[in-house]
Amino acid sequence: MKTEDYLVVPGSAISLADFKTDDTAGHKKSEALARLEELRADLNTLQQLLYADGRYGLLVILQGMDTSGKDGVCRHVVNAFNPQGVQITSFKVPTSEELAHDFLWRIHKAIPRRGMVGIFNRSQYEDVLVVRVENLVPEKVWRKRYGLINDFEGCLCDNGITVVKFFLHISNDEQKTRLQDRLDDPTEYWKFNLADLKTRAKWDAYTAAYEDALNKCSTKRAPWYIIPADKKWFRDLLISQILKEKLTALNLEWPPLAEEAVGITIE
Ligand code: ADP
Repeated sequence: MKTEDYLVVPGSAISLADFKTDDTAGHKKSEALARLEELRADLNTLQQLLYADGRYGLLVILQGMDTSGKDGVCRHVVNAFNPQGVQITSFKVPTSEELAHDFLWRIHKAIPRRGMVGIFNRSQYEDVLVVRVENLVPEKVWRKRYGLINDFEGCLCDNGITVVKFFLHISNDEQKTRLQDRLDDPTEYWKFNLADLKTRAKWDAYTAAYEDALNKCSTKRAPWYIIPADKKWFRDLLISQILKEKLTALNLEWPPLAEEAVGITIE
């Protein structure tokens, strides 16, 4: 599996219709689940190393239509890591306090410190997605935000934070099935939100807003990946593989023994 196949090449103009939502890169589920176990072990070691090394942090941004699996990916990634080294932030409708500041204020406060992994369940991109589709601010305000987001993410990269962004790509039919499941299965009733139907009715407008966010904000240093997400096991496999590659690329090192400890033998 070549993870570059899922990258939004910086400067390109992708159309989501050209990306399959049920792609499995030729994998079978059973073999993928076995591979996932191996990746989980690798990620666990790499995260310990990230923490011990302390020079870098990792920020994982998750976006996607309702039911695309953002919560599932959070669970999956946290399961691979030591929970002490991971911090998940879910961004909801901004509070009055948050609205009284610039749109990046609440985001910046949640950026992981070096050594940590931060996972954003929704993110600064809501400010060019729901905000754009629902006309929550004038167009001239949200239009400027793509550049502001790129500058902000560049600043994070300059400060040792690796930023990786996953768009969980599901089909309209798959969303229909997942929403219907929430109405049919008593253990899922709690997930059903009538507002999701209003959002679903604007599928095309959201798709256009996502395409702009992906095209304008996939940068070399903070790239977007389009993750086929109809099959949960493939979604998790691909994300795990990309995270492994990102952490490996940091060339993390175990810190040496402190100078004052050299030569000590415990009696
Ligand atoms: P979930 O993420 O599980 O769907 P909620 O049902 O509470 O959680 O949904 C969060 C809601 O907050 C979404 O409808 C999302 O669009 C909205 N939201 C997040 N950020 C913003 C924002 N900056 N402006 C307006 N709405 C936002």
